[in-house]
Parts: sequence; structure tokens; C-alpha cells
Amino acid sequence: MPHLLNIWPSITARLLKKPENGRILALFDYDGTLTPIAARPEDALLPPETQQQLTALAAHPRCIVGIVSGRSLADLTALADIPNLIYAGNHGMEIRGPGLNFTHPDAITARAALERTQSTLAAALSHIPGIIIEDKGLTLTVHYRAPVNAAPDNQRQALTREVDAAVTSAAAHYVETGQLRLTRGKMVLEVRPAIPWDKGKAIEKIRENYNDRPIPLYFGDDRTDEDGFRAVQQMGGLAVFVGPPRQSTTALHQLESPKEVSQTLRLLLEEL
Ligand SMILES: [Mg+2]
Repeated sequence: MPHLLNIWPSITARLLKKPENGRILALFDYDGTLTPIAARPEDALLPPETQQQLTALAAHPRCIVGIVSGRSLADLTALADIPNLIYAGNHGMEIRGPGLNFTHPDAITARAALERTQSTLAAALSHIPGIIIEDKGLTLTVHYRAPVNAAPDNQRQALTREVDAAVTSAAAHYVETGQLRLTRGKMVLEVRPAIPWDKGKAIEKIRENYNDRPIPLYFGDDRTDEDGFRAVQQMGGLAVFVGPPRQSTTALHQLESPKEVSQTLRLLLEEL
């Protein structure tokens, strides 16, 4: 898998240099992609340089910029705080931006099942200090990074298994009846409505909004980003996995860290 910056000239020749290629739709995951992952989710702020670059990119006539995240829409909008951006929260079940106002109708129906799962979980996990059960409206996220980091090395695996078992059990009835499903990420477990919707579908939805069919770029670091990678590559766009080079991914390109994403943004701004 080539490192994106190593083959940057060929990328720009293919995607950016020809005016007939038209506009670029540059989409990014948030945590671990634009910002380093923080111990507490509220501490994952955009590096000032990245924020400036995204602002400049969003103001460029050849570029449409958006963030597609598992965070809630309200959370994402408050954290990034950039005008003219597309914000897709809850893995794209809610999308807002210039000309875009979408909430997946089936996601609202699962709300009662989510609420019941949340109250079961709050009781089941109350003995673990530092664990966060976040209500994101349309989805639920259990963050267990802080307690795992605080635990002695030899207890971390057991703690991870305990959290996984508690979430699996709390949601079991709704998973069996096809109302909810679980997904796993980096020290997070998510409870989501069981609807055929993911970051890839969200990216397709966003792109459909533009008649000129801009070339999509998607940068992500985690398992739920794989749907986004597949979608943009099918559309002839560019998928970039952010993380260690040998990790298995469907993305055809790689960057090491959010810092390198920022370097790429700087290059992109110079080329456009
Ligand atoms: Mg991420």
C-alpha cells in the first residue's frame, strides 16, 4: 500500500491538475484522522493548523469539505466549528451542510430500544469508574479507554471482555429482534439502529447532492471507515487509511498520522 505523500505528484496529476476534473469532495473522519485520539472524547480538539487548512479548503471554489464521524452531529459541529462544512454525524445517519439536511427516517424508530439498552447498561457498568456511556441521540457509544488505561496491564484484557459482554447482553434482545446492532472500534463499542446505513452510504448521499459529481476523497483510521473507503474507490475517488502501514484495509493509500493528514491538506491547498 503506497504512502500517499510518496506518490503525491501522480495523485495530483490524476485528480487535481486537469481543470476538466472539476471539483473535489474532500471528506474526513474526525477522531484519529483529523485529531489524535484523546483519553476523553471531549479533549479531541482540532489542531489549529488543521482547522485553518479545512477552513481555507472549504472556502476554495474547487473544493467541498466535510466530516463524517461516529460522533453526534451536535458534538461534531461544536468541536470542529468551521463554516460551510458538511457535517455527517452518527456515521452519516444525520447530515447537515449547505443544501443538505438529512436524518435517516428509520434511525428515529429505534430510539426506544436504544433508551432501554442505555438504562440497562448504566446499571451494569456503574461499578467501572471512568467508563462513559454516551447518548448520541440516534446511537449509543460506550467509551472504555480511560478505565483500560488506568487498569494494571494484567487486567486490561479481562476489563475489555467484561465491557463487551455487558454491552452484548444489554442489547441482546434488540439485536435478536433486528432493531439494533453492535459495532466495535478503538476502545469504543457502539449500539446502532440495525439499518443498512454506514459511512459509505452517507458519502454516496452527500455526493448525490452535486450535479457535477465531484471526485470524492475519504480519509479514515478505523473499522467503520472501511465502508467509506470502498464507496469512494468505487466512485473513482481516493481512499486514505490513517495508521500503521501494515494494517489490513481496503484503502489503496496510507498516511501515518493526523499530522500527515495536515501535511496533505497543506499540499492540497498549494495545488488547487
Ligand atoms: Mg476515527
